[in-house]
Amino acid sequence: KRRIGVMTSGGDAPGMNGAVRAVVRTSIHMGCEAYAIYEGYEGLVQGGDLIKQMLWDDVRGYLSRGGTLIGTARCMAFMERAGRLKAAKNMILNGIDALVICGGDGSLTGADLFRDEWPGLLEELVSNGELKADDIQPYQHLNIVGLVGSIDNDMSGTDATIGCYSSLERICHAVDDVFDTAASHQRGFVIEVMGRHCGWLALMASIATGADFVFIPEKPPRAGWEDQMCGIVRTHRQRGKRRTIIIIAEGAHDVNLTKITPNQVKDLLTQRLRLDTRVTILGHTQRGGQACFYDRWLSTLQGVEAVNAVLEATPETATPVITIRENKIERSDLMEAVRLTKSVSKAIERKDFDKAMELRDAEFKE
Ligand code: ATP
Repeated sequence: KRRIGVMTSGGDAPGMNGAVRAVVRTSIHMGCEAYAIYEGYEGLVQGGDLIKQMLWDDVRGYLSRGGTLIGTARCMAFMERAGRLKAAKNMILNGIDALVICGGDGSLTGADLFRDEWPGLLEELVSNGELKADDIQPYQHLNIVGLVGSIDNDMSGTDATIGCYSSLERICHAVDDVFDTAASHQRGFVIEVMGRHCGWLALMASIATGADFVFIPEKPPRAGWEDQMCGIVRTHRQRGKRRTIIIIAEGAHDVNLTKITPNQVKDLLTQRLRLDTRVTILGHTQRGGQACFYDRWLSTLQGVEAVNAVLEATPETATPVITIRENKIERSDLMEAVRLTKSVSKAIERKDFDKAMELRDAEFKE
C-alpha cells in the first residue's frame, strides 16, 4: 500500500487539523496508508516516534480544533542538507514517498527543495552505506503537495489561506468587545492586529467593524495623515459616534517609512482631540481558538484535493500547491506562488510600496 505523510509546519493556524483529518481519511479511502509527521520538519529529521501511522479514528474530533494537534516547529536542522539527508532516510525507513505539507511560504520552499534534492539524497544514503540500493529502488520520486496554512492570508495565487477567516472572526469579536467599553466611556482605541507583510487582516477587520481609520504594511499613509485621521475622527464624533477605533497592522509604516506604533497614534488622538485613548494589542489570541466554518470547509476540500494531486502526480509534474480562486479549489505551481509572495514581502522590506501594491493588484487582475 502506498504511504502518504502529512505534516504541519511554520506558525499554527486554525484549520490545520481539518487538513490533517482530510488527508488521513482521503488517503485511507483511496486505499493508501496515512502517516502523521509530528512537530513539522523536526519529526522528519528525528524520525522514530515522531512518524506515526494514522487510522480513521485517530483524527476524530480534529475538524473544529484550533492550533495543530500533530504539532509544528521551526526546524533549523532541515535548513541544512545534512538534516534533509536524515529526513530522506526516515522517509525510506517508513516507506513514505509522498508528503502533504500545510504551512507558510518558508515551509513550502523547504519542501520543494527537498523534492529537488531527493534523487541525490538517496544516492548519498546508498553510497555512504546507510541504505542498500534495494531499499531505495521503489522510492525514486518524491511527491510533495503544499497546502497554505497561515492566518495572515499572505500567499499569492490563492484567495484565502487555511486559518485566515478564523483569525478574522476572532479579531472582529475582540473589536466588538472593545466597542462596548469604548462606547460606554466615549473612548478611543488603537488596536494592533497581526500582519507583518500583509494588511489583509487589518483591512478586512476594519471594514467588518466599521473602524475609523486603518494602517496596512503595503500602503503607508500620505503626508498629512495626522490631520486627515483627526479630521475623520472629529467628524464621526460630531455625528454622534461615541467611540473611535483605529486598526493598525503590526507591519505598518508611517509617512517617514519607519514602523508606525500604536502609541504614536494614541498620543495623537489624546493630544489633538483630547480623547481618552487606549492601546490594545490583540497578539496571540488572533491565532488560537476553534476553526470557523470556512476554515473547516476549506481545509477539508483542500486536503481531499491534495491526496488526489499526490495520486495523479507524474515525475514531470511541477510541485503543486492547492489554492482556492473564485470559490474553486485548484492546483497551482507551488514555487511560482512562493516567488510572488516573496517578491511582495521583499518590496515592503525595501520600502518600495508602489511595487508592493502593483504586485498585489496584478494578482487580482490575472
Ligand atoms: P509562517 O508564515 O507562519 O512563518 P513558514 O512556513 O513560512 O510559516 P518558516 O519558519 O519560514 O515558517 O519555516 C518553517 C520551517 O520550514 C523552518 O523551520 C524550516 O525547517 C523549514 N524551511 C523554511 N525555509 C526553508 C528553506 N529555504 N530550506 C529548507 N527548509 C526550510
